[in-house]
Amino acid sequence: MAKRSSPSDKPVRRKENFLVFGAPCLGEEEISEVVDSMKKRWIGTGPKVGMFEEEFRLLKGRKHAIAVNSCTAALHLAILALGIRPGDEVITTPMTFCATVNAIIHAGGVPVLADCKKDTMNIDPEEIEKKISARTKALLIVHFAGRPCEMDAIMELAHSYDLHVIEDCAHAIETEYHGRQAGCFGTIGCFSFYVTKNITTGEGGMVITDDDRVAERIKMLALHGMSKDAWRRFSDTGYRHYEVIHAGFKYNMTDMQAAIGLHQLKKLEQFRKRREEIWKFYNEAFKDLPVFLPPDPEPDTVHAYHLYTPLIDVDRLGKSRDWVLDAMTRENIGVGVHYLPIHYHPYYRKALNVKPGDFPAAEWIGDRTISLPLSGCLTDEEVEDVVRAFRKVLGA
Ligand SMILES: *Cc1c(COP(=O)(O)O)cnc(C)c1O
Repeated sequence: MAKRSSPSDKPVRRKENFLVFGAPCLGEEEISEVVDSMKKRWIGTGPKVGMFEEEFRLLKGRKHAIAVNSCTAALHLAILALGIRPGDEVITTPMTFCATVNAIIHAGGVPVLADCKKDTMNIDPEEIEKKISARTKALLIVHFAGRPCEMDAIMELAHSYDLHVIEDCAHAIETEYHGRQAGCFGTIGCFSFYVTKNITTGEGGMVITDDDRVAERIKMLALHGMSKDAWRRFSDTGYRHYEVIHAGFKYNMTDMQAAIGLHQLKKLEQFRKRREEIWKFYNEAFKDLPVFLPPDPEPDTVHAYHLYTPLIDVDRLGKSRDWVLDAMTRENIGVGVHYLPIHYHPYYRKALNVKPGDFPAAEWIGDRTISLPLSGCLTDEEVEDVVRAFRKVLGA
């Protein structure tokens, strides 16, 4: 094998030019819109949130879009709005961010994990069916890295067992499956505008649904459990008392956040095209390395290309994934891990009574996966630096 880099070798990038993983793409438009909110002195929940919700609703073609302050909040409210009761089971994947599982727990439900597939990293419908019990109430699926789950099989299961489906679309704003958009299959779709996501509002999330009652309930729960449109109480139409009808939460989005989101939304396709270009460039550039490359998108789907996640062939390389993470960092390239599987974390091992060995596909991924920078505003030079660093680290 070719000579490996030694730590004394000059890194691909200089330290002061460390390439931050998942840096957001923000332009003058976003900055001016935030300043406009500040100058108008309406920085809380106001007209811009309403506009952002309407734009998002039109984009997705669903009846309701409700902005909240994170996808975690969106997921929590989604599960609550479906009337999950203590002891009710919600099936989800071990290959996700902890927030997906925490939302089920906070809503009083019991998360039940069903393994994913090694190649797509998405939840396996056959594994779902094995986990369905008399107490199962909902499926909470994650379109991993922006690749759609097998929605035909999943919706068929949901219909035959009478289960709700919630879609965690944190990676998947642009995702489509067989001509239909992610977030429009289940009862509720939840989106994230966290800093590293496809578009950002700093922190932020969105819930979409066609169900009027679910939408009403989510709006009420997102703002202290107050009766509807409580924020209007400070407007010029005369004082109106609010009524609290539930012990709700403080999950509302602000106009400062929506100001950023309004302009990010306009750049959605531009960013996605750039990420697609980079994703394909990486897949071409790493063909000969000891890695398993992410498979091409399935026919009749749109991949949102949120993450680029090659799997290190640790046997061929003779080094661990964590060694690769360190080596990439030494080259001044920011990397991520999406994810260590849920059942590796001490809390869930105890709370869900799960252990290493239970979900072989998630473990296979979790031990090998690395996320390389894939942001809509990476320059060609930055992308080439990532390629050079990864090739160098993997001994090419
Ligand atoms: C980021 C993420 C979340 C949480 O989103 P926040 O907006 O940060 O709360 C949930 N699920 C998945 C799969 C994510 O990647």
